[in-house]
Amino acid sequence: MRLLLVEDDAMIGEAMLDALRDEHYAVDWVRDGAMADTALRNESYDLVLLDLGLPKRDGLDVLRSLRARHSSVPVLVATARDAVGDRIAGLDAGADDYVVKPFDTEELLARIRALIRRSAGRAEPVFSHKGVTLNPATREAAVNGEPVSLSAREWAVLEPMIARPGVVFSRAQLEEKLYGWKDEISSNAVEVYVHGLRKKLGSDWIQTVRGLGYVIPRE
Ligand code: CA
Repeated sequence: MRLLLVEDDAMIGEAMLDALRDEHYAVDWVRDGAMADTALRNESYDLVLLDLGLPKRDGLDVLRSLRARHSSVPVLVATARDAVGDRIAGLDAGADDYVVKPFDTEELLARIRALIRRSAGRAEPVFSHKGVTLNPATREAAVNGEPVSLSAREWAVLEPMIARPGVVFSRAQLEEKLYGWKDEISSNAVEVYVHGLRKKLGSDWIQTVRGLGYVIPRE
């Protein structure tokens, strides 16, 4: 899962970045509204964490133009304590949820999981498909009830696919889930992680669609 973090405060931003990366999210961090707008126009994200008070361009303005482009990416707004007006304005401008600063990291992570779940059209907190279960909250995976240990990057490749069985993901789409902007991409990285996943989950669990990418078959 790839997240855009929009936060101009260096200390808060670094703390959030650490917490999100610990949860194995790929995170791009931008520190002003203009860069946020550019990132949102050029990259695809599974969720946006948006501070409202930003240099160059106000967070609400970034959010309004995002929604004016009919983007449905989930947006979690971060506002200052007691700024009720900001929270209302954020929700009215198209935010899906908000957290009040200073927020509890565990609560933030739970809200992120809930929003990603809802945006994928799921109510249940655990992915389960053809004998494989993934629990994003506990980071536990199992095959037919037996725990398996997945690396952070195997998890990053598997999670978007198990969320949408039957949908073909291109290598480029899966690479996007793996890395933030500053990370290096080795050209065969996705193949390596798919290979590792097949060993752990079953050789035909992820299928190659020649010339297109990878799919977890619906049946
Ligand atoms: Ca700010």
